[in-house]
Amino acid sequence: MILVRVLNMSDSDTDYLSADEESVNIDEQLDIIPVEIASEVGEVIAHNEPVEFQRGLPDQHTYLGHEFNSIPGRVIFADDEIVELCIPDQSGMETVAPPLPGQTVPLGFFTWRARNTAAKIIQGNHTFGVLPREGSKYKVGTTVEILGWHEEPVDRSHINYLGIKAIGKARQRFEVLKTYSRREGDNVYQFAEVKILPEVSLSSVANSYISGHNLRLSKLSQLKSLSSVPSFIFDLYDPNILMEKIKLHVKTLDGTAILAVMPNSEILDICYWLILQLPFSEEFTMELLSMNCVVQRLRAILSVIGKFEQGVCCKECNSSLAVTSDSLALSLHGPHGTFVNPGGYIHDTLTYSNASGIDVITSPTMEFSWFPGYNWQIMICHSCGEHLGWKFTNKDLNPDNFFCFTKSSVSLRITKKEDSPENFWVM
Ligand SMILES: [Zn+2]
Repeated sequence: MILVRVLNMSDSDTDYLSADEESVNIDEQLDIIPVEIASEVGEVIAHNEPVEFQRGLPDQHTYLGHEFNSIPGRVIFADDEIVELCIPDQSGMETVAPPLPGQTVPLGFFTWRARNTAAKIIQGNHTFGVLPREGSKYKVGTTVEILGWHEEPVDRSHINYLGIKAIGKARQRFEVLKTYSRREGDNVYQFAEVKILPEVSLSSVANSYISGHNLRLSKLSQLKSLSSVPSFIFDLYDPNILMEKIKLHVKTLDGTAILAVMPNSEILDICYWLILQLPFSEEFTMELLSMNCVVQRLRAILSVIGKFEQGVCCKECNSSLAVTSDSLALSLHGPHGTFVNPGGYIHDTLTYSNASGIDVITSPTMEFSWFPGYNWQIMICHSCGEHLGWKFTNKDLNPDNFFCFTKSSVSLRITKKEDSPENFWVM
């Protein structure tokens, strides 16, 4: 049985845009399929032939339960706005960087302090901040908006209280100005004062450039036709041309599983999605997140993607683990996934159909399985013993097994070339 305590949602004293801006329920915001289909997983055992795994299931995060209280409305801060954000304890964040705008984030607030912070966030504008990892030279983070939540008794303590499980979505980037703590009643909360960062479009840059001509342009092609600058120069900054070049590189790497599920949306959203699908390093991901313009991000990706070898290796000992051609999209959004474990630790993952140089060290279990119907086992590096992720198996499903690497434990194999990517990162 799931216990749900109703939180007073009218206690907000924070200035924000909410209700009616985008009043849709959590299922619509997550683009997921109906929950009823989850029951089909239990039926596959009765079939003789393996049944195709339903790729809509992982995005539902059914291991967190089904009875979510949806939060209507959407919080959007203005560009350059200075805001105070509550900061949950980030010791459980195993992601390589703060979540990227548009990324769905499952959340588990299980310690007494964490659940109190989550309750405060839900009662407020249901938005919190994720900061860069402690000690990072980068000062950029992202806002995460809680879309739905429910409470469950915590089953690991002598004290009885309700932990909070939630689904959130990363929304906007910000620059961290300062962090501090403040006591409110019996609790001490962490906060950050942040400045919301803009997403600069090239058309606004172009408009600024030609403002002396008293013209307003909405498309790069218009500026291109008016300018005496050679067109190939404009092509270097055309987001559509840059994206096509990146897709060609991904295709060369045989990343068909990635390209097959590329979303049909704004190029800004596609760019963030693509960053998640590829095993970029934490530093490079932070570098991309720090950029204010999608063209700058695309050019940076293009500058390194040509240096990829096929696949990923152990970050600790450099042993080869998997190749790009074995990338496997187990969800509707591609090989990448974001999941939370029973301890509240969030993992960014990539799935592959094959792997080498790994050992499984635990017995199969279906408890809290991120891929409904599959058993999982902990997977470590054969060479150095570092934890790499999880192997999932079920002989009654197709695929009958796959390998789920946590992005924080693997890195890209990059060939050495003379030109440094840093040279391309600045426009
Ligand atoms: Zn290793």
